[in-house]
Amino acid sequence: MSLPSAWAQWADAVIAERTAAGLLRRYQTLASPQGARVLRDGRWLLNFCSNDYLGLAADARLRSALQQAVADTGVGAGASALVCGHHHAHDALAEALADWLGVELVLLFGNGYLANLGVLQGLAGRDDAIFQDRLNHASLLDGGLASGAAHQRYRHADVDDLQARLHRTPARRRLVVSDGVFSMDGDIAPLPDLLRLAQTHEALLVLDEAHAFGVLGEQGRGSVSHFGLAADAVPLRVGTLGKAFGVYGAFVAGPRALLAALQQLARPGIYTTALPPALAMTTLTALQLVRDEDWRRQHLQNLVQRLRAGLLAQGWTLMASDTPIQPVLLGSAERALAVSQALAERAIWVAAIRPPTVPAGTARLRLTLTATHTDADVDALLDAMAQLAPAHACLEDVA
Ligand SMILES: *Cc1c(COP(=O)(O)O)cnc(C)c1O
Repeated sequence: MSLPSAWAQWADAVIAERTAAGLLRRYQTLASPQGARVLRDGRWLLNFCSNDYLGLAADARLRSALQQAVADTGVGAGASALVCGHHHAHDALAEALADWLGVELVLLFGNGYLANLGVLQGLAGRDDAIFQDRLNHASLLDGGLASGAAHQRYRHADVDDLQARLHRTPARRRLVVSDGVFSMDGDIAPLPDLLRLAQTHEALLVLDEAHAFGVLGEQGRGSVSHFGLAADAVPLRVGTLGKAFGVYGAFVAGPRALLAALQQLARPGIYTTALPPALAMTTLTALQLVRDEDWRRQHLQNLVQRLRAGLLAQGWTLMASDTPIQPVLLGSAERALAVSQALAERAIWVAAIRPPTVPAGTARLRLTLTATHTDADVDALLDAMAQLAPAHACLEDVA
């Protein structure tokens, strides 16, 4: 059967439009495990674009944990969690995560996108109000829209703007939603201020810790620990298992009563096959490494400082980030692409992040560091950046 012509024309127009704007995205296919060095198109590249912050995605102990787990529990879950897909391994992981964070309960989800969709769609409805940071992850924005609640975005990390909006809302149940660490900027949300506002206005604070768990705080417990707050200070936190944990999946952590209600209502947790139990078992091992191997976080922090100092000395425009996400602002999509391609020629892989992922005029390189990078790896990146600096650094007025 051939494609109806209206659809064929539409599909061609989408691709033509994206191509003309320099915004076409393509798979860049790996032929090796994720890591500080990856094989792509027959070449080994020094890789600065994964979210495998602790370098666990290809860890030998996790590989053997997965092999053993598959031998014990099989491959797929075979059903949704509330029918017959929920295994002891899921309970064991949820309990271990709850113990790590000091919360009452953890619910598992298929991935972070689904968890965010589930939290916002499940908690909020037509009579409620959701307030989100403008730079929150797309999954939170989509969840807010799916909820049908009145949905507003406040200026990035701007607590005065948030306060004014909270002040005006007639809704009785309010949600304030923020990334803990912002995925494209790398900065940390003003958590103590957000908490204070949420308390004053009786709003529920939801924090997406996708880039914070494993990376920030004692034992990698995220933003709450980073700011020295009590374990139960933030009522609801979302974490992914596909970034610092190096595996796949996600979870929501919080009070038993709230999560019990969420479990009944979050459609992305109900109408979907449960996480493979073998991945849950593997993640138990990953959690042990996240908790115990503090050297990974310390080494990462040293790499961050080394990279920032080097880039600033060369005249690049960095952002206010102390996390392993280190964007280099370049302005236009063309310039970001040019620098990324020049690095690729030097066997270094850094993603160019362009609109619509970031606002127009703020295209950037998004450099990410992992605990498996060495000082020499960072120096190799700095050498390559130094060669490109005369042509591309020292931009005025990028924003
Ligand atoms: C990556 C990410 C997600 C989605 O998590 P996945 O497990 O990859 O689906 C959600 N929120 C933020 C802030 C993220 O960066």
